[in-house]
Amino acid sequence: MGKLTITRAQTPKPKFEDVSRLEFGKLYTDHMLVMDYSRGRWHDARIVPYADFVLDPAALVFHYGQAIFEGLKAYKNEKDEILMFRPRDNFLRLNRSAERLCIPPIDPDEALSNLIELVRLESGWIPTDPGTSLYVRPTIIATEPALGVRASDQYRFFIILSPVGPYYAEGMKPTRIYVENEYVRAVPGGTGDTKAAANYASSLIAGKKAHEKGYSQVLWLDGLRHENIEEVGSMNMFFVVNGELITPELNGSILPGITRDSILKIAHRMGIGAVERTIGIGEIFRAHDEGRLDEAFGTGTAAVVSAVGEMAWNGRTITINNGEIGRYSQLFYDRLTGIQMGREEDEFGWVVRV
Ligand SMILES: *Cc1c(COP(=O)(O)O)cnc(C)c1O
Repeated sequence: MGKLTITRAQTPKPKFEDVSRLEFGKLYTDHMLVMDYSRGRWHDARIVPYADFVLDPAALVFHYGQAIFEGLKAYKNEKDEILMFRPRDNFLRLNRSAERLCIPPIDPDEALSNLIELVRLESGWIPTDPGTSLYVRPTIIATEPALGVRASDQYRFFIILSPVGPYYAEGMKPTRIYVENEYVRAVPGGTGDTKAAANYASSLIAGKKAHEKGYSQVLWLDGLRHENIEEVGSMNMFFVVNGELITPELNGSILPGITRDSILKIAHRMGIGAVERTIGIGEIFRAHDEGRLDEAFGTGTAAVVSAVGEMAWNGRTITINNGEIGRYSQLFYDRLTGIQMGREEDEFGWVVRV
């Protein structure tokens, strides 16, 4: 394992005054973690003052989009403990994204121990109000200056930290989602199951369309037939039909969410049968019409659980569970945030103490 060097910031930035007013991703801490790849190896892992990067305009990331990222959170609880939720899984997923984009893998254990050092150094930046956290953004970009279409032979790995206010500033409120029929996010064999930056660039236009129609998120259908439910924005989807918990199976074009996986494991442990299978959008609307659609919710690091109150597809709009938070949405939100904050027993060994 390479040795981590630390260069401290000389002039710490002013910290937030009112976390409830923090806009997501607008404020960054004093330091960042950086590591470079060249001549066939990752080297020079370092914590340095947060600053601009200087990159050659020919750096491959600007031209052919070799960029991948991760997102996780560090929490500070009432006992002043700093906790992270399954952080090693984020580095393992980063490596799976890396493999798909011909980016060299990092050592997940070294990345985790370096992240822990960074979070310790920045512990004064972690807000403590309910629902707040320190968002952690690991990223890898291709830095070699070259215009040939090929994999870069130089990369930069970095982690930046951003204090974030509560996702549910006004309490958990079910969202309205728009089912996208024209644009697609991913196709079989594509990069939909990776956190490749390009996936998000290509999804912006549908988000814009949904916002113009008054919806907050886009629900994506499968790229070939536009029939089956894939996921929503940066969340995986769950439905409760006839009392049964179902979620689309990982078919290669859906992002394998760590929150999704955690909810499936909690459900199984609680004796709630959860089924991973293909789910048609028509099936969900039919279930609604027949009074069998009990709940719909999205899951992801940002919101943990986000209940869906309304869904629009093909000119039809349905209201789910009277636009209220459902039983399972609330149950999984409470259980998962309880584990994440160290309030409830961590029977799966998911929480890492910083
Ligand atoms: C990150 C992400 C998710 C959720 O993953 P988590 O690990 O649960 O945060 C779901 N879908 C997409 C497209 C994502 O980028």
